[in-house]
Amino acid sequence: MSSPLALLGGKPTIPESTPHFTWPPLTNGTTKAVLDQLASGISIYDRSGVIAQLEDALAEYFGVRYAVLTSSGTAALHSMYAACRVRPGDEIIVPAYTFFATVTPLLHLGATPVLADCDANGNLDPRDVAEKITDRTFAIVVTHMWGTPADAFGLRALAERHGIHLLEDPSHAHGASMAGQKTGTFGRAAAFSMNGPKPLSAGEGGFVLTDVEDVYYRTLLHGQYNKRCRNELPKDYQLAPYGVTGMGLKHRIHPLAASIALDQLGHLDEYLAGRARIAASMIEQLDGMPGIAVPRLGSDVRSSWYGLILQYRSEELDGLSIERFYEALHAEGCMEVDRPGSTGPLNLFPLFQNPGPLFPHYEGKFSYAPGDFPRAEEIHRNTLKLPVWHREEDMPLVDRYMAAFRKVADHYRDLLE
Ligand SMILES: *Cc1c(COP(=O)(O)O)cnc(C)c1O
Repeated sequence: MSSPLALLGGKPTIPESTPHFTWPPLTNGTTKAVLDQLASGISIYDRSGVIAQLEDALAEYFGVRYAVLTSSGTAALHSMYAACRVRPGDEIIVPAYTFFATVTPLLHLGATPVLADCDANGNLDPRDVAEKITDRTFAIVVTHMWGTPADAFGLRALAERHGIHLLEDPSHAHGASMAGQKTGTFGRAAAFSMNGPKPLSAGEGGFVLTDVEDVYYRTLLHGQYNKRCRNELPKDYQLAPYGVTGMGLKHRIHPLAASIALDQLGHLDEYLAGRARIAASMIEQLDGMPGIAVPRLGSDVRSSWYGLILQYRSEELDGLSIERFYEALHAEGCMEVDRPGSTGPLNLFPLFQNPGPLFPHYEGKFSYAPGDFPRAEEIHRNTLKLPVWHREEDMPLVDRYMAAFRKVADHYRDLLE
């Protein structure tokens, strides 16, 4: 049998060499920002220079009172949880489907993560959260998966009704919004990553946002000890005597990373607008293709398009496995099509099935298992992720990716055993 599919000996659709997608966009402006910072200082102990500039710019961009930079998103989440006074034994409702660092810092504070399932978009489902609330629940944590806002209004109303906190991990969703309100401004605090591929990138870095003064001071005490705390904690603040040591962790961002992020932040809205245009074109081209379901966003939802998440429907292709479809796309040259590994249902990881060997405190406290979160697991199993490009000149490559999808879907029968 001869087939045009590259996997079966045909000509690949995309001959260009990889990578086909890189992030963040680095310009001469980025290089200049880094070199200028290199000349002016590579460790900053207080809130001055590029640290103050970037924190001010973030507070303004998000419309919040306080922003604190950190060395990573994981550190930002750890500081946020500590600053919101999560205590040992508190139950924190978290998404079953998220990147694990949304939850792992809670294990270092002795809190109990209570996993909840997602909705059809992969975002935390308020209905499942409602069923998990007990009198030990302290907070709900929401991730806006792949850049598309979760039902933040629904979750906030639920949290308010029960007198518990809503906290956000918008690490995929810088600049995304719902009814004009940006993700990261819905709860008591938010913790973002600025890791390499994130919509706002520092290479490595993160930040905490809050409007609450006490959360701000405690965020400083958690990971920005000594000079910064001594300068900023008011003399009459009850925790001011702890300023020198804070809680003893050091989560400061590197000034060179901050200079990259400050440069990137100046372009963020322009990058997101470009992504929105290209995502719309990709969705239009993929809509109705057998085997592929495209995301449907409400008209008031603006995604950061950290990824375009497609759902594979093997039943529309006579049961062809996702593995085989994916292999055929890669053979066509679609090397940026991904099946996410480390971002997936947490109940599939040994850490959440049997935490005891690494965290003795949790021996026998919780044990999740495959099958516990059917929606999250099904979405994860059927996910094909594409990056979303942002420049007009990327369109020819985007169109070739779309042509490769059409080719594989048109000839799927050649792939059946
Ligand atoms: C990337 C990411 C983190 C962790 O951020 P780091 O900067 O890598 O420590 C946490 N949560 C989510 C949802 C992420 O995507």
